[in-house]
Amino acid sequence: MLVESDCPPMKLKTIRPNYVSQFPASFEEGILYISEEFETAGHLCCCGCGEKVITPLNPVKWQIRKDGDKVSLSPSIGNWNYACQSHYWISQNQVVEAKKFDPKTIRAVQRRDRRDMTRYIERTNAAAAAAKKHKPSFASKVNEWLRRLLGS
Ligand SMILES: [Zn+2]
Repeated sequence: MLVESDCPPMKLKTIRPNYVSQFPASFEEGILYISEEFETAGHLCCCGCGEKVITPLNPVKWQIRKDGDKVSLSPSIGNWNYACQSHYWISQNQVVEAKKFDPKTIRAVQRRDRRDMTRYIERTNAAAAAAKKHKPSFASKVNEWLRRLLGS
């Protein structure tokens, strides 16, 4: 169930992308740092609380959509682990305040996220294992050849 937000409006109304290879030691407000190399984005919470928000960019976490010099992140960013518990969307560089979730919804979302992540890891591992099976490594080819040579 959604409840109305009771926190003050977002301090930041806009955010702009800054493509970096690595994150700087300290973030500047209003900048969405995007590391395509490490598939991660990071910014300071748009409510102004100063917390660093790191958003991994992968199929089960966040997707980034680029539109010229504008970016959108989906899904929304819910800072449940921070005191502010702010919840907003980044859409075309605009910070759009979203409704605050109640604790029960937050727990449900966190459970779903963990489940999605586990499935994603399982799928990735399975794909890696399958690839390995089809493409034997050099060492396993040598092993096989030795086994045949020794007739065992
Ligand atoms: Zn905040």
